[in-house]
Amino acid sequence: MINEEVYKSITESIKLTHTTLVAVSKTKPTSDIEALYNLGQRDFGENYVQELIDKQGLLPSDIRWHFIGHLQRNKVKYIVPFIYLIQGVDSYNLLKEINIQAGKANRTIDCLIQIHIAQEETKFGFDEAELDELFSTNLAGLTHITIRGMMGMASFSEDQQLLRKEFRRLTSLFDKYKNFITPNCHLSTISMGMSGDYLLAIEEGSTMVRIGSLLFGKR
Ligand SMILES: *Cc1c(COP(=O)(O)O)cnc(C)c1O
Repeated sequence: MINEEVYKSITESIKLTHTTLVAVSKTKPTSDIEALYNLGQRDFGENYVQELIDKQGLLPSDIRWHFIGHLQRNKVKYIVPFIYLIQGVDSYNLLKEINIQAGKANRTIDCLIQIHIAQEETKFGFDEAELDELFSTNLAGLTHITIRGMMGMASFSEDQQLLRKEFRRLTSLFDKYKNFITPNCHLSTISMGMSGDYLLAIEEGSTMVRIGSLLFGKR
């Protein structure tokens, strides 16, 4: 079951800031996705490759699928034919594999670089030194990917100051590289903010929020 009222109020409130809403539908049935689709939603985010493939096969072809989970290199080939944006690129090797598979599929795939901003060790992503290294390597050869921006997950915390600090960190790393423009690097997207912290994330510069439980209920 989706919460239609909440959907309408979120879309209404983010319209003014030109923020994109990605509806995170992991573990939820295709009927829920269809319900939101019928209200006009087109961007959906999934975390698990098999689940994404199953749903993609059953749902309208104009849905923009975002992969937001940790992507294993050996599974890239399964999503490359249809994926719209791969948000969780957390290593150079993954970026290279996406490039190879996208080449085979005759596509160029948009990617976001995942940045480690949370305190928890378990969250994936680049730290600043690794990011510097990534942008100093020769990315020009990766002609089948385009880096569109950065993505991050804040700590699982209620501490507004901490969350704000983490979001600011992502925005400042984005700012550091936003003028780094090459044929396959155009940074315009900052994907941050989830059900509990999306308003704060928007205040701190988010251009794309990923919201699951507020829309679809608890998982
Ligand atoms: C599950 C998930 C979300 C959505 O989380 P909610 O708290 O349910 O809104 C957003 N981003 C990522 C990377 C996720 O895994």
